[in-house]
Amino acid sequence: MSIKSTNEIAITQQHWMGNFALFMMVTGALIFFKTTDQVLENAYLSRSVIIVLLIIIGVTTFLISRSQLSSRYQAHLLSIMLLIVPIVSINLLPYAAVTVWASCFLFLMIALISYNRIVMWYTIFVILATNLFVMLKAKTVFVEIDPTDHIARLGMIVIAVCIALIINHLHIRNLRQLHSLANQLHDAASRDPQTELLNLRGLEEVFVDDRRQLLLIGIHLENYYELARFFGEEIQERVLFDCIERLRSLLPPHLALIRVEAGTLAVVMEKPDGVSCHEEMALLSQRMSAPYQIDLHQIYVNLYIVIDDGEVVQTNWMKRIRQVNSALQETVQQDQKVMCIDQGWRKEQAMRVEAARALSLAEIKRDFYLVYQLQYDSNQEEFVGLEALVRWKTDLAGANRPSVFIPIAEKSDLIIRLGEWIFEEGCKTRKRLIGLVPEQFTVSVNVSPRQLTNDSFMPFIERMLLKYALKPQQIKIEITESQSLDFESQSILRALQRIKTLDFPVSLDDFGTGHASYHVLERLLPLRQLKIPKQFIEQIEEATKRHSILESIFQLTKSMNVECIIEGVETGEEVQIAKNIGIHIFQGYFFAKPVSLAEIIQLLEIKNKEAAE
Ligand code: C2E
Ligand code: MG
Ligand code: MG
Repeated sequence: MSIKSTNEIAITQQHWMGNFALFMMVTGALIFFKTTDQVLENAYLSRSVIIVLLIIIGVTTFLISRSQLSSRYQAHLLSIMLLIVPIVSINLLPYAAVTVWASCFLFLMIALISYNRIVMWYTIFVILATNLFVMLKAKTVFVEIDPTDHIARLGMIVIAVCIALIINHLHIRNLRQLHSLANQLHDAASRDPQTELLNLRGLEEVFVDDRRQLLLIGIHLENYYELARFFGEEIQERVLFDCIERLRSLLPPHLALIRVEAGTLAVVMEKPDGVSCHEEMALLSQRMSAPYQIDLHQIYVNLYIVIDDGEVVQTNWMKRIRQVNSALQETVQQDQKVMCIDQGWRKEQAMRVEAARALSLAEIKRDFYLVYQLQYDSNQEEFVGLEALVRWKTDLAGANRPSVFIPIAEKSDLIIRLGEWIFEEGCKTRKRLIGLVPEQFTVSVNVSPRQLTNDSFMPFIERMLLKYALKPQQIKIEITESQSLDFESQSILRALQRIKTLDFPVSLDDFGTGHASYHVLERLLPLRQLKIPKQFIEQIEEATKRHSILESIFQLTKSMNVECIIEGVETGEEVQIAKNIGIHIFQGYFFAKPVSLAEIIQLLEIKNKEAAE
């Protein structure tokens, strides 16, 4: 609901004034027509002229009230129109002095409903002028009025005018108070009460018709809630205020600062010319993340920034905010401090939406298949296992990658059904390989957190082992150390406990990319394997930091007596560096790419044949 300004209220009142005047004039004309003779005695205007005049006044007043003129001009014009009424009435004075006064009071009534001071002053002027005229000209117009009656009537008129002025004053005052109250309410609804920044509603209102290409920058304090937990709400609030102050001082001139929700703020600004927004924001993120000194505490905030470049001019701010919010979640998950919502991002998002739609129609056996990637042990000089990797047969470009469709499947129960199918296929494959590979050869199956917490998962894998007569040691369960896996959750812990008692080897995939601490590793013990992701071996030749991380992870696995495998090795140099550190199990394109089961079998048969010769 929008709040009307005083001017708008005056215009509405003047509409009513127009309606009222039209009604009164037409009714007056009718009454006049019925009650008077054709030729009026002593009157200088005939009956028909008066009737026509009254109707013209009514219609013109109505039209003025509906015109586009400002309320001020309207008030003057309306008053002038109505002024004609007493003037016309004066013409009837000889025998209709009462009509003159009545028309004056009519004007007074109209002035009252107009809530308008201008009309009010006209009224007072007309009433006084008309009555003075009657008083002075009483003799010449043959009105028989006792002179004392003039005084009494004037007194009554003054009282009536005073009452009208008081009512008018009270009306206008109440109206102003109501209006300021409405403004306050409106302000409260469009501002965040804690910070007094605009809220989402306020944002929408301020920029509702703005068609400029405006940047929308989302800023998220990841540890906002933790601040309250660790330091208390007062310090949380002070950090937030300091943060807003810093933003104000560091940001280039901006149009609005908005509080989206708890620890999420947004800034609207014009696109600066020729500056790389990404670089600017990276700098801003760095400065904003510098510790906050609150009393004796030095507080660090994890700040993430998303910039919506506004390339697609969108006046739907809620939609833009939703996009920025979902991109912020992505930045937190990927631990990427600054991200830009550009054409590429929008395309990717649109593709994900399409993928989600297509996935909801997918049939597992028809639309998915598995590929396998061999794992090589350089000490034993043979393949020791393989990882099952799912693929989706889809026409949607880019959507067949598991990194796209698995997170979507994980948002629904599709992952449970898909996961069960993958697990069973993995068991079938392991059974199919009997005779071709040593007994301890493992098939690794990736298991999502949602599967782990599903009550039917453990009974299912037990059934599969029985069905395919496999030993638990022949199937490795790969759990990704992602942020979505909460090792504190009771259901996860129960599932892990059950996996342990069944003696399934567990591999912690993508180690070092999530939140696993030593404490988590302890819970997973006896963990069979730690899997080091590709990013720690990539271009390791130049990166001494990565080298030392790799070394320390290897030392950790050694001290925990856990197998260490490195994935994503693509070059001989990478293999050599890993070997020098002590790592001897590999999965990567250098040894084998993910291929179909038929190709794996063919390769293993050739290897076996070569070994036999
Ligand atoms: P992951 O389990 O860490 O799988 C390893 C990924 O690295 C695979 O990508 C594999 O193809 C790729 N890779 C292996 N060696 C190399 C290399 O030398 N160079 C490069 N550039 N890449 C290499 P993929 O198949 O795209 O899988 C990506 C992720 O999707 C997997 O990461 C896993 O988290 C998930 N995923 C794949 N299959 C499944 C599945 O069956 N179930 C579940 N829940 N997740 C799966
Ligand atoms: Mg894996
Ligand atoms: Mg991995």
